[in-house]
Amino acid sequence: MLTVENTLKWLELFNAKIQAEKDYLSELDTPIGDGDHGNNMSRGLLAVHEALTTQSATDVPSILKTTAMMLISKVGGASGPLYGTAFLEMAKLSSTTLEVAPLLAAGLAGIQKRGHAQVGEKTLIDVWTPVIQAVEADMLDGATIETAVMATKDMQATKGRASYVGERSIGHIDPGAASSGYLFTTMLMAGV
Ligand code: ADP
Ligand code: MG
Ligand code: MG
Repeated sequence: MLTVENTLKWLELFNAKIQAEKDYLSELDTPIGDGDHGNNMSRGLLAVHEALTTQSATDVPSILKTTAMMLISKVGGASGPLYGTAFLEMAKLSSTTLEVAPLLAAGLAGIQKRGHAQVGEKTLIDVWTPVIQAVEADMLDGATIETAVMATKDMQATKGRASYVGERSIGHIDPGAASSGYLFTTMLMAGV
């Protein structure tokens, strides 16, 4: 269940992980995209960090909404609106429930409504989907997340910039899947 405390901790850990892996995420985006995913996420999470440390958010919906707004306005690219929409949908539902599984499911529904990707198209939803299934079964662990991220390596991208390189997208981990992997490993670390 989300609380003010574990949500803030989660976002702070996610920010730290994104800053640490910024170059790696941009490297993943180089052969199959435009090499900016790490920079995009780094800029966005820094803005989230600044907004959450200067505003004193006292409830989960406002923390999630502030996060969404920063991601939408600062990340840019394909991933900014997608991550931003996910947090916005979670923010909306969090005034009704603080249970993680339905919140993440609402986030995923937002990503799919916006990006129209299905499972198997080598995008971040290839991580969100199995993670949510595992959360629903109360079985999420690091190995599940790692397996989902690695599974994007053998997929051919049919959505987003990576689809432009066609079959040559096979053999590379999807950068958005990798950053989503960090989102969920830090969620576990925060005890959400
Ligand atoms: P851009 O491709 O505009 O440079 P980023 O590099 O920040 O944006 O993000 C790329 C990531 O966005 C991809 O690795 C993929 O996971 C994700 N992505 C792209 N298009 C879609 C989509 N339609 N649905 C879901 N995720 C997508
Ligand atoms: Mg890119
Ligand atoms: Mg770009």
